[in-house]
Amino acid sequence: MENRICLSTPTIHGEEQGFIQEAFEKNWIGPLGFNCDGFEAEMTSYLHQCGAGYEPDLYAFAANSGTSALHLAIKLAGVKRGEHVLCSDMTFAATLNPVTYEGGVQVFVDSERETWNMDPAALEKAFEKYPDARVVLLVHLYGTPAKMDEIMEICKAHNAILIEDAAEALSSTYHGRACGTFGDLAAFSFNGNKIITSSCGGMLISRTREQREKAFFWATQAREKSPWYEHKELGYNYRMSNILAGIGRGQLLHLEEHRKRKEEIYRRYEAGLKDLPISMNPYLPESSPNFWLSCILLDKDCGVSFMDVMNRLAENNVETRPIWKPMHMQPFYADRDFVFAEKTPVNEDIFSRGLCIPSDIKMTDEEQDYVIQLLHDFIGK
Ligand SMILES: *Cc1c(COP(=O)(O)O)cnc(C)c1O
Repeated sequence: MENRICLSTPTIHGEEQGFIQEAFEKNWIGPLGFNCDGFEAEMTSYLHQCGAGYEPDLYAFAANSGTSALHLAIKLAGVKRGEHVLCSDMTFAATLNPVTYEGGVQVFVDSERETWNMDPAALEKAFEKYPDARVVLLVHLYGTPAKMDEIMEICKAHNAILIEDAAEALSSTYHGRACGTFGDLAAFSFNGNKIITSSCGGMLISRTREQREKAFFWATQAREKSPWYEHKELGYNYRMSNILAGIGRGQLLHLEEHRKRKEEIYRRYEAGLKDLPISMNPYLPESSPNFWLSCILLDKDCGVSFMDVMNRLAENNVETRPIWKPMHMQPFYADRDFVFAEKTPVNEDIFSRGLCIPSDIKMTDEEQDYVIQLLHDFIGK
C-alpha cells in the first residue's frame, strides 16, 4: 500500500470551521466563551440521550486535556498524600498518573477476560487488603464497558467513590446507559486519536454544581473572589480554549457516524479473521461498545509472537500497537502493589499476545482487506 494504514487519526468534517469562525469574528479566542459553554451543554445532553430514560445530574467542565480532567476528578475525590487508590492496571499511564500528582499511592487491580477491564473479584480482594481505600479509578479500555453492575455494587458496599476514565469510551453504553455516567466523577478525552477530537482537550463530568464550580476554580489558577489576585489554594491552568471547544462541537455532530463506522470495521475484521487462531477484543452482550480500537489476541499456540506480527505489518506500511503495557509492569510504578484473583495475572497474558490493529474510520474497505490479507499471510498456516 502506498499510504500508511494508521491505527486511528482525526477525521475532520467542516462544521468545526464554522464554530471557530464565529469565535474569531467575536474575538472570543481565550480559555472561555460560548464554544466552551456550548460544548459542555451539548455533551451533557448527549450523555442524557444515551441514558435511555435514566436522567442523572451531570455537570460538564471542558478541560485542556483528558489528563487534566482526570487530575481534577482526583482532586474532587479528595485523594490525600499516602492514600491508597484502587486503579485499573491495564491502561494508559494518563489514567492514573494524576493519583501520583496528589501524592496518592496506586494499588493496581487485574482485569477479567470478558471485557479486559477491572476484575470485580480482584477489586473485592483489593478491598480486603486495603479496607480503608476510598477511591476506585476504573477505565473502559478501547471503548469497551467494564462489568459495571458488579463494580458499582462493590463500590457501594465499601462506600467508595468511583471515578471512570471514559477517555476512550464516549458513546459506549452498558445496559443502555452511557459510560461516563456511572461514576461519581468521570473524564473524557478529545485527543487527536480518540473517537472524536478537539485536537487536544478533555471533559470532566461531575454530579453537582458545586463540584463543577470547584473544578473550574482549580482549573483557572484558584483565584479567590477579590479585586487583586488572591490565592488560598494551589491552582492550575486547565481550561479548554474557545477555539478547541469549537472543534469539539463540530465533531460531536458526527459522533454517531464515527461510532457506526468503528463498529463496521470491527465486524469486518471479525468476519475476515474468523478462521485464524486469534480472537477479537471481547465485550458483554449487555454492552454496546464504541469499538474505538479493534484488537486481536493471538492464540497461545499460534506459532508467532505479537512482535513478529507487528514488525511484519510495519514492513508493509501498516501501523499496529501492543496492548497497553500493564502498570504493575512499568518501571516507574515498580513499588506499587498489584492484586489479581486468577491463578496468574490476566493482564500479563493479554499484554503478551495482544495487538491493536488499524481502526481509522477513513480506512477504505480495500485497505482493510489488505490488512486482513497480511494477517492471514503472517498468522495463518
Ligand atoms: C487518551 C487517554 C487519556 C488521556 O487523555 P489526554 O486528552 O490525551 O490527556 C487518559 N486515559 C486513557 C485511557 C486514554 O486513552
